[in-house]
Amino acid sequence: MIRMSNVLVYLQSKGNDLLKASAEAVTAAKAIASVTNGKVHAMISSTAPDEAKEKAKQLPIDSLHVFSDLETYNLYRHAKAVQEIAEKTESTHIVLSATTHGREIGTTVAQRIEAAYFNDITAVSTGDGAVVVTRPLYANKIFLGVKLTEEKNVITTRAGSFDVPEETGTPGVFEENTEPDSMEEKFAVLRVIEPEGKRVDLTEADVVVSGGRGVGEPENWKMIEELADLLGGAVGATRAVTDAGWRPHAEQVGQTGKIVSPKLYIAIGLSGAIQHIAGIQNSQVIVAINKDEEAPIFKVADYGIVADLFKAVPLLIEEVKKLKQAN
Ligand SMILES: Cc1cc2nc3c(=O)[nH]c(=O)nc-3n(C[C@H](O)[C@H](O)[C@H](O)COP(=O)(O)OP(=O)(O)OC[C@H]3O[C@@H](n4cnc5c(N)ncnc54)[C@H](O)[C@@H]3O)c2cc1C
Repeated sequence: MIRMSNVLVYLQSKGNDLLKASAEAVTAAKAIASVTNGKVHAMISSTAPDEAKEKAKQLPIDSLHVFSDLETYNLYRHAKAVQEIAEKTESTHIVLSATTHGREIGTTVAQRIEAAYFNDITAVSTGDGAVVVTRPLYANKIFLGVKLTEEKNVITTRAGSFDVPEETGTPGVFEENTEPDSMEEKFAVLRVIEPEGKRVDLTEADVVVSGGRGVGEPENWKMIEELADLLGGAVGATRAVTDAGWRPHAEQVGQTGKIVSPKLYIAIGLSGAIQHIAGIQNSQVIVAINKDEEAPIFKVADYGIVADLFKAVPLLIEEVKKLKQAN
């Protein structure tokens, strides 16, 4: 018989907003809590922008814990806060979104509280009365259902795999004072360097325009950037491109890059290698432009344009401009 257990969600902000992936993690937490008959609690840093904290206060959760923070991110302070708030709320399941921070904090907390750790889950279900999480393996070739048999579990959720909760709530809000962790003096963040440019974050973007080796040298990327900017989207790239140094590594999409979940993914001059596809499968609509009609990207694309990208992309830009002017 399953023991009643509560779930704690670690929330992150991005810019002024609550991270969409964090809101999605709340949905996963609620699915877990529905199996364990527990409550869902959440926590957010006091240094998160007011807008993000306000959004967190409207989530369909039982309580929100605002923990004191350093001005710059410190892994050990955050891990300690998660541990303390999990104890306080009697949460044996801890859910974070599978961002760089989420994974880093998740593994540290799991090690500290001796919990089982499940990274990058895409679904929650139930089997024999226990919580079952789905984990993709081998670049999404296999989806493994894992029954949670340990008492304590730390779980990270893949962006785009769960919906943002539609309903709202009025959780009790608690200010938490987190004392510094003994490890903090060994680990100092001196400053945070934000990426240049004003484009939306790849993992949060509704539109991603990605280019591959077919786009070629850095100069040619102006048209990819222009299309992304016109659509209010982010620029992505394949590993072939980032390895060649044509675009920054932060833009790499795929198995060893970022997992994206936009409404629209435009794949330009990229072949659609399995490692790239692993990062785009949560996209709602995929449009591919490639001069080779046999390119594997057309197997996953909803719309395909067999054409030379240097002809097709400028035409697309013109059409988008016309549509924008008409509106
Ligand atoms: C362990 C491992 C992990 C990996 N992780 C990733 C990852 O995270 N992300 C990733 O992307 N890759 C990853 N890769 C690399 C991956 O296997 C491919 O090598 C890479 O994705 C290919 O990049 P590409 O599509 O840009 O290049 P290519 O495969 O060379 O494709 C270029 C495409 O452009 C088209 N093209 C060329 N010129 C034009 C033109 N003028 N107009 C229209 N189309 C044109 C061609 O027809 C071709 O289809 C990984 C590989 C390994 C082994």
